[in-house]
Amino acid sequence: MVVFTEKNVLSSHLSSLLKENKTIGLVPTMGALHQGHLSLIELSSKENDITVVSIFVNPTQFNNKEDLDKYPRTLDADIQKVETLNTSIIIYAPSVKDIYEETISSESFDYDGLELKMEGKHRIGHFDGVGTIVKKLFEIVNPSKAYFGEKDFQQLQIVKTLVKKHALPVEIIACPIYREKSGLAMSSRNERLSSESREKAAFIFKTLQRAKKLFATKSAKEVTKIVEEAFKKRKEFTLEYFEIADEETLNICKRKDKNKKYRGFIAVFIDNIRLIDTIVMN
Ligand code: AMP
Repeated sequence: MVVFTEKNVLSSHLSSLLKENKTIGLVPTMGALHQGHLSLIELSSKENDITVVSIFVNPTQFNNKEDLDKYPRTLDADIQKVETLNTSIIIYAPSVKDIYEETISSESFDYDGLELKMEGKHRIGHFDGVGTIVKKLFEIVNPSKAYFGEKDFQQLQIVKTLVKKHALPVEIIACPIYREKSGLAMSSRNERLSSESREKAAFIFKTLQRAKKLFATKSAKEVTKIVEEAFKKRKEFTLEYFEIADEETLNICKRKDKNKKYRGFIAVFIDNIRLIDTIVMN
């Protein structure tokens, strides 16, 4: 395994590999790696000659300074975890300066309105930051495939839209959600939870599963109300949103259409830490 910290050095290394017709898979992460990340890396290693894992806590996608400051940064442990995979990986762990040079700012993107819903509505500027870093990483790495988790389903749809609109030569691969034994979706932010809260946070996925069951016989509006009531009763949580939306457009489900695929999306605070999750509803 090799670790690069400078984009110019990485790019020239990769361009010599590209000349040998090697395929490159990219797994963008913000580090504090867990099994969910490792599953993306493993899939990329199977499907490509070379896998590049970027580890970069991207400041422009944070709308909350405390969240950015407290985001876990564990590069040495991350490197060790990648080493256990038994496959040769390139890690790109740049500084903010290497990525942004003198100006830390994001480009503005139009994702056909996908950016105005859910995460975009509650984290202003978040998806401009995501688009900015993803586009920069694609330019530096030149991957033929890039791997994104369904845990951040809205991000996945946004990245697909970005690729389409800018005609970028990369295929986006969606990867399933990895969960802890309790059902809690794995997340780097789980590391910040107390062990008690981590146990309690299993309620999030339990409620999503319950919502899915209810959706078989009830309307989206009724199910949403039940979920909201359930969280009101649990004082340790603050529900930011629960929405049942069309997977493609992310438009809220008003009337069920059996030809459409719906997902439940949730963002909830516990211990002042914001967690998100999603579930297929039908
Ligand atoms: P992050 O480091 O949180 O920005 O995540 C990097 C990538 O890993 C994103 O594409 C995430 O969607 C994906 N990811 C994060 N958590 C999980 C998980 N529990 N299961 C699968 N993929 C995940």
